[in-house]
Amino acid sequence: MQTILARAMSQKQTSLKAPVVRFAPSPTGFLHIGGARTALFNWLYAKAKGGTFLLRIEDTDRARNNEEAIAAIIDGLKWLELDWTGEPVSQFERAEYHKAAAEKLLGEGAAYRCFLTQAELDQMRIEAEANKTTLRVRSPWRDRPASEAPDNAPFTIRYKAPDEGETVIDDHVQGRVVFQNKELDDLILLRSDGSPTYNLAVVVDDHDMGVTHVIRGVDHLTNAARQAQIYKGLGWSVPEFAHVPLIHGSDGAKLSKRHGALGIEAYRAMGYLPEALRNYLVRLGWSHGDDEIIPTAQLIEWFDIDGIGKSPARFDVAKLEALNSHYIRHCDDKELFERAVHIMPEIPGGHDIAEALARGASGAFRAAIPSLKERSKTLLELIAGAGYVFASRPLAIDDKAAKQMTDENRAMLAELLAKLKSTSTWTAASLEADIRKFADTQDLKLGKVAQPLRAALTGSTVSPPVFDVMEVLGEEESLARIADHAARA
Ligand code: GLU
Repeated sequence: MQTILARAMSQKQTSLKAPVVRFAPSPTGFLHIGGARTALFNWLYAKAKGGTFLLRIEDTDRARNNEEAIAAIIDGLKWLELDWTGEPVSQFERAEYHKAAAEKLLGEGAAYRCFLTQAELDQMRIEAEANKTTLRVRSPWRDRPASEAPDNAPFTIRYKAPDEGETVIDDHVQGRVVFQNKELDDLILLRSDGSPTYNLAVVVDDHDMGVTHVIRGVDHLTNAARQAQIYKGLGWSVPEFAHVPLIHGSDGAKLSKRHGALGIEAYRAMGYLPEALRNYLVRLGWSHGDDEIIPTAQLIEWFDIDGIGKSPARFDVAKLEALNSHYIRHCDDKELFERAVHIMPEIPGGHDIAEALARGASGAFRAAIPSLKERSKTLLELIAGAGYVFASRPLAIDDKAAKQMTDENRAMLAELLAKLKSTSTWTAASLEADIRKFADTQDLKLGKVAQPLRAALTGSTVSPPVFDVMEVLGEEESLARIADHAARA
């Protein structure tokens, strides 16, 4: 903890302009699309401006908080390659600093002990409803000395919100937002059990971590006004704010699971590449002209808060798939191989594939990647397309492929097998030439040879070009697969 603060502080001293930003998730579930986008915006801003990106886990809600969710958030960020400086900060572990800040405000008369009971609060709520007004808590204890409270009565510490004037947030995305102070609550800072509330903890942590820019969802805009008051009460400078619009589903409603939006780990398991997801996420709210495909290095050069729009972006799986296809096509073959192998443990049938690789299929899989990557939207599709590589003889053959195995075709395969046995080079190009010549001499269209051949080699009627398949499988395996289906002499 100390080291992060020290680092953030010393960075502030060495370069006064370099921003310090943070991602501050509450660990109540997996890292979702909205959270990942917030993290990405912060990370990019730090990268673009030579600043520091910090991670704080807002784990004060002990009932909802769990280790599994924290691990999922950290894994998700690591997979997205959004690296932060130092150890993640635990908000829960900083409780003493939050308490000290509340007590400082109390000592200076900027906060007060409030002995309102639940029943009294409920009554205030009922009255507000009856008068059709929103409840804005101004406790009688604001002006009443604590000495009048019953002995040992539980109390909260509330902030004394100003009654007049306005609180202005000059937001980098939302513009100038004005809040009338008389409409803001006397906010609870410490609950009766002494635990800090979100608004107090965020202010104290952001201040101690040296945060200069708070980039987060627009659902926190009203909190910004409350937090600005606490900053002022503590005599601290208020950070810059940028409240980013929410993400909506294709029907215009706030994004939820119903729209097919999943946790980041699900996109990883479906075979999306982190660079594709970064490119996709940044375009959910940020733009640079009409550019759609923007590699991360370019994003770092271009990213600025000014490019974040005010209207909510729509989540569109088809667009994500299109970007992923692009990044798969442009990914280095070796890298793709490694990434595909990496997700094997998470995918259905991955265990068998891993075994096939261990038995020696990895050379063929590597060789298959150049043609497969041209037609795969995800790594899962790429792996499925390589099914013929991992299959072992005798091949399971699907129904459509089985229809190719007529007596006539099996006889043709026997003739082709004899020809191929005497072939001297085994490359896709030379095999194509040989097989075209064979089709000519048999007076057959190429497809009439290629389809039964494909069925024999892959057990399917869809595959990459059959000549590529033969090169990938190699001479021995290809001849053996053809022989399995060719008519016996
Ligand atoms: N923990 C809050 C959330 O997950 C974010 C707080 C903030 O960014 O100030 O919504």
